[in-house]
Amino acid sequence: MNKSQLWQSVLAEIELNTSPANFATWFKQTSVFSKKDSVITIQVPNAFTKEWLENKYNKFIFKTIRSFLPEIKEINYTIHQPKPKILSFKKTPSLERQLDISQIKINKETNLNPRYTFESFVVGSFNELANAASQAVVKSPGRTYNPLFIYGGVGLGKTHLLQSIGNEITKNKPSFRVIYLPSERFTSELVSSIRSKTVNNLKQKYQKMDVLILDDVQFLGGKEKTQEEFFHIFNCLYEKNKQIILSSDCPPKSISTLEERLRSRFEGGMIADIGYPDFETRVAILKTKIQEKNVQINDGIINFIAENITNNIREIEGALNRVIASNSLSTLSLEEAKRNLKKIITPLKTITNFKNIIKTVCEFYDILEKNLIAKSRKKEVVYPRQVAMYLVREELKNSYPSIGDRFGKRDHTTVIYACEKIEKELQKEEKLFQEISIIRQRLYK
Ligand code: ADP
Ligand code: MG
Repeated sequence: MNKSQLWQSVLAEIELNTSPANFATWFKQTSVFSKKDSVITIQVPNAFTKEWLENKYNKFIFKTIRSFLPEIKEINYTIHQPKPKILSFKKTPSLERQLDISQIKINKETNLNPRYTFESFVVGSFNELANAASQAVVKSPGRTYNPLFIYGGVGLGKTHLLQSIGNEITKNKPSFRVIYLPSERFTSELVSSIRSKTVNNLKQKYQKMDVLILDDVQFLGGKEKTQEEFFHIFNCLYEKNKQIILSSDCPPKSISTLEERLRSRFEGGMIADIGYPDFETRVAILKTKIQEKNVQINDGIINFIAENITNNIREIEGALNRVIASNSLSTLSLEEAKRNLKKIITPLKTITNFKNIIKTVCEFYDILEKNLIAKSRKKEVVYPRQVAMYLVREELKNSYPSIGDRFGKRDHTTVIYACEKIEKELQKEEKLFQEISIIRQRLYK
């Protein structure tokens, strides 16, 4: 076996054991540079791949190589930039993309969009647990984790993952009745069924499902009638071992005005969160999308996007699409790309305002705005008030006295005390940290 045959066999083995997206990103462009006695040197296209393979995949690669060549004792990775190929870039990217979109057909029965698959879903440490739980659900719907509850911030892949589960189950088990729907849609269907006195029909429709996927259940908060009807549907499905999959922007305990009985149902299965992707994963996601779109973009631009957009994959995609849409992609310099992206990459901070902070905090803690501002010293209000002061200070950089003024003419020392207290607690209290991140995300939605 020569070294290239060896590597082809190793890659074939690796491909079987990784997702197509990860394989394409990290392995496709590798080759064996040399093999001397017990040392093998793998050639990789760039520093990220090198680092990623060394840190994440080294053991796995080592094991695989040794299953072919037991004498190998050491692997090195070396960077070798392939010569830029003549670009096979198609001249009308925007038209291409329009075609793509029109080809996507949302299934009328399941509401599933076939674009969302596990193949196109990049897995990193930020979503590993959610991905693993989803795979387990695909393997035995209704049996392993029921319900599966996935939560995480905006644009981090909840819908993608939920729909991938639906698509995969539909593929594996064509007789299964699967339905996906956003919570708002469930509410509006319910409202019209109440008007037309057909609530029972609606309930029966959902109670017949084998898999019910309800996206963004934070929107059930405060909607009592919707919660009540959903509670019955949930129980009926659950008792029959039918799979229920839910998503939300926060854990069940933080969904405000969610009835206790629903909350405990939501908490009764598997809860998995999706965090923020780290830099390497953001690069991997960009590279996967670039490959899907069949274009080439230089690493400098990829890094720039990955460095500057850190907490929303949808925005990362948006930036990429902007770059792709520029006419002269093949010669696009980093400077031009930066100019092009300036509008979306400048911090979003200025978008929020005082009113928005108050409204968001009050909704989150489920208190009245007037009580937040008033003089009450009740614990239920004092704590949210301190959080609100802290956020006004952090997000708007207002002065302490002016914050005091706006919070019912309080003294500036009260504001300083609140800000310092929250800051200190943030260091040690995971719960507070989570609450504030959720509120921040809602502020900039
Ligand atoms: P959410 O529902 O959490 O707001 P989405 O699932 O709509 O987020 O994801 C936003 C966009 O980012 C979608 O276009 C999705 O395909 C993409 N995306 C999210 N996570 C990933 C991932 N891990 N790999 C590839 N694409 C992703
Ligand atoms: Mg979503």
